[in-house]
Amino acid sequence: RGGQTEREVPFAKPGSLTRVYAVASGKGGVGKSSVTVNLAAAMAADGLKVGVVDADIYGHSVPRMLGADGLPTQVENMIMPPSAHGVKVISIGMFTPGNAPVVWRGPMLHRALQQFLSDVFWGDLDVLLMDLPPGTGDIAISVAQLVPNAEILVVTTPQQAAAEVAERAGSIAVQTHQKIVGVVENMSGLPCPHCGEMVDVFGTGGGQKVAEGLTRTTGATVPVLGSIPIDVRLREGGDDGRPVVLSAPDSPAGSALRTIAGKL
Ligand code: ADP
Repeated sequence: RGGQTEREVPFAKPGSLTRVYAVASGKGGVGKSSVTVNLAAAMAADGLKVGVVDADIYGHSVPRMLGADGLPTQVENMIMPPSAHGVKVISIGMFTPGNAPVVWRGPMLHRALQQFLSDVFWGDLDVLLMDLPPGTGDIAISVAQLVPNAEILVVTTPQQAAAEVAERAGSIAVQTHQKIVGVVENMSGLPCPHCGEMVDVFGTGGGQKVAEGLTRTTGATVPVLGSIPIDVRLREGGDDGRPVVLSAPDSPAGSALRTIAGKL
């Protein structure tokens, strides 16, 4: 929208009733996008109006995981987002022809995020989830500038170099005055398909350690909201565009994710 004045971000207006969660992680591959998509689908299944902004420029896997294969359309000067399972979704990947790898820099990302938040027709959302790129980079600061009331949800594995992640994410939150709503531990053990015993593939305790570290750095109590086991159905659900909270809601991963969604 070159030349025009920037629209306000509706979610940042005083009195906005939309809860905004920015989902963050210290590194890639910990299941941040899977958690985002499943929380969104679980909330929508509970009757909430939910949107997801896929701001993970390096991964942009949210539309596939949600099974949203439509493209955005333009109506007047607003962008209409496609939706799947009752969740509206917009992704950087929808604007890169042929899914070209994104090599954008900070200011362009900020601009894209600004447009995702203010030029997309979201309607009255109850919840907006934002899937951030891994690490605590420029985009976390952009989110804080654009939606200061966004709360941060940290995803980690049991193994993660906990102190480090906690300190980095925590110091950004302190700088930006944002609240960290809690920690989700993903890949917390693999239930043996034969005997049911848990195999702690990635160790134990990472979620707790991250939560304690964040509590220390921010001075506010940061809880562990739940632990999600390794579950083939979660991975399959992502590959098939049918989140495990819908395809196997009573599986260990499905029910853990539904419980976490209920706490947000
Ligand atoms: P991130 O967004 O942190 O990079 P993804 O959500 O893309 O991570 O997950 C990375 C891969 O791990 C995906 O293939 C996903 O299906 C798989 N995965 C994530 N969490 C689990 C889990 N609890 N059980 C099984 N597979 C998982």
